[in-house]
Amino acid sequence: MDAAVIGKAPSTPLGEPGRAVRARELISYEPATGAEMWRGEAADVDEAVERARRAWPAWAAQPLSTRMELLRRFANEVRKDADKLAATIAREVGKPLWEARAEVDSVIAKVEVSIRSYAERTAQRKLDSALQGVMAVRHKPHGVIVVLGPFNYPAHLPNAHIVPALIAGNAVIFKPSEHAPASGEMLARCFHRAGISAAIMQCAPGGPDTGAALVGHEGIDGVLFTGSATNGIAINRRLAGRPDRLVALEMGGNNAMVVWDTPKLTDAAAIIVQSAFATAGQRCTAARRLIVKDSMYDAILGEVKALTERLVCGGPFDEPAPFMGPVIHNRAADGLTESFVYLLSNGGKAIKHLVRADEALPFLSPAIIDVTAMAQRPDVELFGPILQVIRVSDFDEAIAQANATRYGLAASLVGGTPQEYNRFWANVRAGILNWNRPTIGPSHAAPMGGVGLSGNHRPTGFYAADYCAYPVASGEMEQPRAVIGVGLK
Ligand code: NAD
Repeated sequence: MDAAVIGKAPSTPLGEPGRAVRARELISYEPATGAEMWRGEAADVDEAVERARRAWPAWAAQPLSTRMELLRRFANEVRKDADKLAATIAREVGKPLWEARAEVDSVIAKVEVSIRSYAERTAQRKLDSALQGVMAVRHKPHGVIVVLGPFNYPAHLPNAHIVPALIAGNAVIFKPSEHAPASGEMLARCFHRAGISAAIMQCAPGGPDTGAALVGHEGIDGVLFTGSATNGIAINRRLAGRPDRLVALEMGGNNAMVVWDTPKLTDAAAIIVQSAFATAGQRCTAARRLIVKDSMYDAILGEVKALTERLVCGGPFDEPAPFMGPVIHNRAADGLTESFVYLLSNGGKAIKHLVRADEALPFLSPAIIDVTAMAQRPDVELFGPILQVIRVSDFDEAIAQANATRYGLAASLVGGTPQEYNRFWANVRAGILNWNRPTIGPSHAAPMGGVGLSGNHRPTGFYAADYCAYPVASGEMEQPRAVIGVGLK
């Protein structure tokens, strides 16, 4: 299901009218126009798993160098199709074309990063052992891995699991987001054109029901999930009695940005606005809560508001290019609007209202609301362009507010001294902690994951290699050599 709505019970995963037309028919729509984008059948899960199981042993037995070479060919296929893939992503999820192009660049870059990461984190090692033997450490793939993708980065984020999983020797069944099957299918074709078979890297379109059927299938060995905490928890619960299944969960956040003393107000405002509103706030690492020092409040909020008012929200192909597009669908726009009204009617004070220019389309203006006076602030991820502001008087309170969440994905300190950053780093609980940098835009060269409701301690990014293979320790000697030294008659 989508990110939470404040003030009412969450709707069912299949609540989007018109999405699941017949049991297996799936349709995606362009958020910016409402036009139909893709129509097809949901995958047959039994068939997909059986095909993957049959093909996997031969793939796992290939030399690592062969798999790496095939992945490099995949990167070249994406390069050839870059314009088409970017346009498809932009149409299907509504993000501006410039941003979809950057997403495609990340897909390409992922291959070399994953090759480096495999070598660094899961390389074969040989250690000296007793009696001149050797203790070898090597890694084995798990087998058939299910990758469940989110809508907001429909190519890059699933790809960030798929590429390392394939390098490690797994077969992959990739279920793209139900809102982005066209992007998923196009990505899958690049793997196939590179010579990776459609049995080793299968695209299995479908909705949450298809995802759930894959997760519960006897023939799989692991699930790599990127999506909301609600659905990640459902998957975790489903597999609680299956310790033999690998489960990596990359989930959402209710991320904090703390603003402390800084003379650089314009830069600070740009960092805040990028963090809160890029991709219409539909990033897992987006800043949701702005925690501001009392004495900085008027100056920084003045700059942030002025900059936010200049942001252009428009269609993905508009010229000049917009800063941000619509949210993913009307149901998400409705939920965000309801949540904003809830905050307003429970003590929030609008600094900039959430405006929906056209009720028929999910374009929302970026909104800012001061929630300092709210008696109880709901700790939910509002996956859209809403920034909540909290005013504090001292640094301890700022840290306490930053930690006032069950999530733990990203947090940033803007301004402050090196000593204050040290305190922030030591005391704030999150997998990404930045200083004078946005909360968004994690580095390919670093691990990417969170604690609390944001993940299950299996970060992706540079550390994806860790969960794509398991280590095997082998004591080895060319000939048997042993004596029993003690306790013989
Ligand atoms: P979502 O949870 O609705 O869906 C993610 C995927 O899981 C989809 O493919 C969906 O069909 C599938 N799914 C849903 N319910 C399932 C179930 N019960 N069993 C199996 N599969 C199921 O997420 P979304 O709305 O597409 O993406 C937005 C969410 O993803 C936000 O919460 C965001 O913070 C999070 N996200 C996290 C990261 C990260 O790296 N931590 C990155 C991007 C997005």
